[in-house]
Amino acid sequence: MAETREVDLRITGMTCAACAARIEKVVGRLDAVREVTVNLASERARVVYEPGVIDVGDIVRQVEKAGYGAEPVRDEVDEEEEIRKRRAYRRHVATFLLSALLTAPLVAQMFVMLAGGRPFLPGWAAWLFATPVQFYVGWRFYKGAYHALRGGAANMDVLVALGTTVAYAYSAILTLKGSREAYFDTSATVVTLIYMGKLLEERAKARSSAAIASLAKLGAKVAHVLRDGGEVDVPVEALSVGDLVRVRPGERVPADGVVVDGSTHVDESFLTGEPLPVPKHPGDEVVGASVNQARAFVMRVTKVGRDTALAQVIRLVERAQGSKAPVQRLADRISGVFVPAVLAAALVTFVVWSALGHASHGLFAAIAVLVIACPCSLGLATPTAIMVGTGLGAERGILVKGGEHLERAHRVDTVVFDKTGTLTLGRPAVTSIWAAEGADEADVLALAAAIEVQSEHPIGRAVMEAAKARGVAIPAAADVIAVPGRGIEGVVEGARVRVGSPSFVSSAAPGLPEEVHRKLAGPGHTVVLVAREEKLLGAMALADEVKPDARAAVDALRAMGVDVWMLTGDAEETAQAVAARLGIEHVMAEVLPGDKAAKVEALRKAGRVVAMVGDGINDAPALAAAGVGMAMGTGADVALEVADIALMRGEVLAVIEALRLARATMRKIRQNLFWALVYNVLGIPLAALGVLSPIIAGAAMALSSVSVVSNSLLLRRARVGVGASA
Ligand code: ADP
Ligand code: MG
Repeated sequence: MAETREVDLRITGMTCAACAARIEKVVGRLDAVREVTVNLASERARVVYEPGVIDVGDIVRQVEKAGYGAEPVRDEVDEEEEIRKRRAYRRHVATFLLSALLTAPLVAQMFVMLAGGRPFLPGWAAWLFATPVQFYVGWRFYKGAYHALRGGAANMDVLVALGTTVAYAYSAILTLKGSREAYFDTSATVVTLIYMGKLLEERAKARSSAAIASLAKLGAKVAHVLRDGGEVDVPVEALSVGDLVRVRPGERVPADGVVVDGSTHVDESFLTGEPLPVPKHPGDEVVGASVNQARAFVMRVTKVGRDTALAQVIRLVERAQGSKAPVQRLADRISGVFVPAVLAAALVTFVVWSALGHASHGLFAAIAVLVIACPCSLGLATPTAIMVGTGLGAERGILVKGGEHLERAHRVDTVVFDKTGTLTLGRPAVTSIWAAEGADEADVLALAAAIEVQSEHPIGRAVMEAAKARGVAIPAAADVIAVPGRGIEGVVEGARVRVGSPSFVSSAAPGLPEEVHRKLAGPGHTVVLVAREEKLLGAMALADEVKPDARAAVDALRAMGVDVWMLTGDAEETAQAVAARLGIEHVMAEVLPGDKAAKVEALRKAGRVVAMVGDGINDAPALAAAGVGMAMGTGADVALEVADIALMRGEVLAVIEALRLARATMRKIRQNLFWALVYNVLGIPLAALGVLSPIIAGAAMALSSVSVVSNSLLLRRARVGVGASA
């Protein structure tokens, strides 16, 4: 397979779902393009292409050929872009006001006539008012229609432009003939209403992407760098890795780094959603954009710019917001064939009415069909809900990596938890030591520590702490290798030493006497054996506290009708004891890391929609295998990397929040699709029958987009919180 690259483009000039579908088609036609998704709500396109064959410029030109603007998205938030957007918005508001002002007398006359009065505007005056509305205000519809037609497709602009032009031209002819009957009110009102709809839609769209903007604003602006014995203020962009920086109380940490001097606590809630202050001492890592809440400290910068945690979170949320849920594909397909179908329906309407001898009535019914049929709300249905949903999640420390994961997460019926570090704190402590004949507790600990000093595993850390606390002398070890999910081994003073699970160690040495094991394992302790060559030296019991919210989370999942499983590499009895305490029925213990994925796969084969929640490197394959992989943000980077949803708070209850968020978002999407379709499905026949006037049709159409976007914004009120920070 050839190498591929991805580019995100900012697209301008799209007016409805048909435009998005059109760009997808045109860009997809390029040979070297593998994949292209265009999102109407975020006005972004993501293109996967083969860089050897074409470059970004070719893709941009292809988009431009279809009549739209394209520009690669830059990483930093673009202040100029913001200003430009705001200016454009103000200009649109002014245009709308002008349009409303010119239309008002026409509407007033229409009401007078409806009430049985006589028209008070001379024909030429009505014409005069309607003309700038039709061609100046309505220019964007003509432009859009032109681009679409030139590109060989029809979109909503075609419908609006065609409908209003017919009404306008017909009225002009009548006026020239000296007739007092004219429909300038219709053309002008439809243009004004649809323009208003676009305006409201723009405003709502800006609000739905506010989450990113607020994240991006979090970064600090200047840093106090320690240089040549003094302190220099430099802009954060000029920081480099290795710089020593002082952070004063109340300031934001300028970049990711390590504390080298001083102790404080910081607020990392932007990342974790957790409002608790986190203590920091020399050697601890700090993340950029967290707030120093206590004392000044000095840090060494380890990551700057796009490598920082903040930049990564922004990228992640941005990508997720640009994605669509698979349900949208259906809507996209519908709107692709929609416009030609509507043109046909309008034509049929006119022909049938004319055949019945009501040509002018038929003309207006046909105009109403054209106007009501716009599929733009259909195109906004899922992307707006996903933008709001993922933004809401990000604020609560739930990073969803794409709309498709939300769609799958809402159907989850089985949640599989890893034990250590996920359901438990992952900070085991040695609680008791047993020594075999001829050894004492200090020997056991010293030998274990000699090997474990090279381990990354929480058990390794616990052993080191115990050894340090008892002040035992730790001998040197060589050739240490970790056997994931089983233990660790190496050579100490010429002898092969094994530390690990009973099954791992007893494959080389005799097992632990039954009654000793029972005593050590007690109420859910992990038992680790230590052997030197073929001789069992001793054993240690380690206790790992269950997270305070684990029980509540399991109960809540049950209440949601979700099956809960526990999957662990730990011994059967330990696993059972912990499971019993948490009320988990289904336990799979002594599962090697490689087999975790197979177990998850087996559950999926049985027809379940499985969410796997894990934290460690050994969980990564299982996270990838699950329908939805959720990683605890307190865990390994690899786990976060492969997960579909990252839970930045270490809380178990965050799992419930993620599922609730998914359910709430999907409910919104369904409602949106329903409303978008209802407008069209009911509106078109009513318009064809002549029941809906073009003006009502214009209002309904404007309303449908606005109501879909507003409905998505209502998601912000969804009650997803259950954790400590709810
Ligand atoms: P979990 O699936 O619960 O996260 P792991 O797969 O990391 O657990 O480990 C499973 C078992 O392997 C542990 O309970 C322990 O018995 C053994 N083990 C793994 N690594 C080590 C180590 N460094 N020292 C001692 N025992 C270990
Ligand atoms: Mg684990």
